[in-house]
Amino acid sequence: MDFDDTPEEAEFRLEVRSWLAEQASAYSLKSFDDLSFERQLSLGREFQARKAERGYAKITWTQELGGMGGTPMQAVIYEQEEEKYNFPTVFFAISLGMPIPVMRRFATEAQQQRYLKPALRGEEVWCQLFSEPSAGSDLGGIRLKAVRDGDDWVLNGQKIWTSYAHISDFGIIVTRTDPAVAKHKGMTFFFVDMKSPGIEVRQIKQAAGGGEFCEVFFSDVRVPDGNRLGEINAGWSVAIATLMEERFAVTDAAGGGAQLEDTMHFLRRELGEGDGGLDDPCVREKIADWYIAESGINNFYARLLTGLSQGQLPGPEAALSKIVIARKLQAQSADIMDFCGPAGAIYPDFQVSRANDYRIAWLEAAGYRIAGGTDEILKNTIAERVLGLPGDIRVDKDIPFEELK
Ligand SMILES: Cc1cc2nc3c(=O)[nH]c(=O)nc-3n(C[C@H](O)[C@H](O)[C@H](O)COP(=O)(O)OP(=O)(O)OC[C@H]3O[C@@H](n4cnc5c(N)ncnc54)[C@H](O)[C@@H]3O)c2cc1C
Repeated sequence: MDFDDTPEEAEFRLEVRSWLAEQASAYSLKSFDDLSFERQLSLGREFQARKAERGYAKITWTQELGGMGGTPMQAVIYEQEEEKYNFPTVFFAISLGMPIPVMRRFATEAQQQRYLKPALRGEEVWCQLFSEPSAGSDLGGIRLKAVRDGDDWVLNGQKIWTSYAHISDFGIIVTRTDPAVAKHKGMTFFFVDMKSPGIEVRQIKQAAGGGEFCEVFFSDVRVPDGNRLGEINAGWSVAIATLMEERFAVTDAAGGGAQLEDTMHFLRRELGEGDGGLDDPCVREKIADWYIAESGINNFYARLLTGLSQGQLPGPEAALSKIVIARKLQAQSADIMDFCGPAGAIYPDFQVSRANDYRIAWLEAAGYRIAGGTDEILKNTIAERVLGLPGDIRVDKDIPFEELK
């Protein structure tokens, strides 16, 4: 496999580079700290609309669907170039990472016409309503009930850790529809209008200051049967398809923190070359570790993309990459802070892209090892679904859900 740009890819890279450079003065921010959340979101929406106009919001999708009919490699090139800036696109990451690809796979033609493009343009935001207070890793343990009533379903219960629910227009949700059967067999998947009567969203204040995780309460929320994705009681398979999209969405190198080239530039500037700097054996050893992890992540990602370009769907092997990326993010950001000493925590004039800000990376890394599947759960996935080893012991697998304690 040759990872250098082909002449066509090099041309595309130049085109993207020049377009992004044109957008930078209006949308790439030196720091988000001075802007209100609302202002960041509205700038993000403007930038996202421009991106979508050129087909960059989903490069591999056809033009008809709002993409540009590009190759997976072009999508990577775009991401690599966009990462160099500080565009406020984080609000759309969940939306376009999981719910929208799932709508693309499971929604009707008419629903796709209605919902895909507004999401690509950032006009509408989607969230993923999976986790509950007693169901995270074990998604099969969800309790939020959906009961059929005529052409509607009535939803009651609670979700938690729903990223960006407070700004979402729609959400994909997995519900319990038949508690009399084993837990994975009685779930049904829907999409919901987040402005429906009976939905209450409460933001959770986070340690690092943000509030983008939410609790979402459902009290007699009516959802039309037409919003069902997949068959009644077959929601588990749609949920699994979503989780595979999620594993893939969190697999690209962008999630692994600062790219080595940028980090080296920064360290050279801050530490210099001598003792305690780039000549220091301890520093060099860490740099070698990052290099190994980064090369592995990039090559593995290229392999996943090759599979996708050959028509494969995202599969469980992406779990491997997620484990390495999350660990690298945590280790590298902590190492950089150590190297910089007490000053490592501040550097107010350190203007970098969000992806390269090791301080943000350090704050977010612990959560990243949980989001999209914890390390332990991903190891189970790899053991069972990639290596074919015997399954984890699941004593509740065949017991009717309502009989579980
Ligand atoms: C940044 C972030 C964003 C998130 N965004 C969303 C979102 O948008 N929508 C959403 O629905 N959820 C979201 N989540 C929630 C996330 O999916 C869950 O936190 C995650 O699935 C873990 O579930 P839990 O928190 O209930 O922990 P638990 O499942 O209770 O796990 C607790 C510990 O037990 C371990 N464990 C559990 N089962 C096993 C097992 N069988 N074998 C070995 N170890 C095990 C876990 O690895 C973990 O260390 C988000 C979480 C984070 C951190």
